[in-house]
Amino acid sequence: MSADLIETTVDGEWAALVAAEIPDGAPAAVREGIARRRLVVTQGECPCGAVFRPPPRAERRAAARTGRVLHVRVEHSDDCPAITTHIEQAWREAR
Ligand SMILES: [Zn+2]
Repeated sequence: MSADLIETTVDGEWAALVAAEIPDGAPAAVREGIARRRLVVTQGECPCGAVFRPPPRAERRAAARTGRVLHVRVEHSDDCPAITTHIEQAWREAR
């Protein structure tokens, strides 16, 4: 699966965020799930109410100094198509 690197600012500092690309021919549920994940990255919020919360500034600065990549956990609602298990299940059902 490929991804886009999105350059933006987080709390006034440069950041590069990774957003998965929606695969051509993916089942509708997979497309919706990935589209929602992209919304969190590009707009800061999912329709389910999940929001992008950047790591604390000190953690971001330490990562920038050492070239480390930070992972951000987004808490989607239980029924949101963006949840990993829902995307995986949709892939399995389509095959
Ligand atoms: Zn969501």
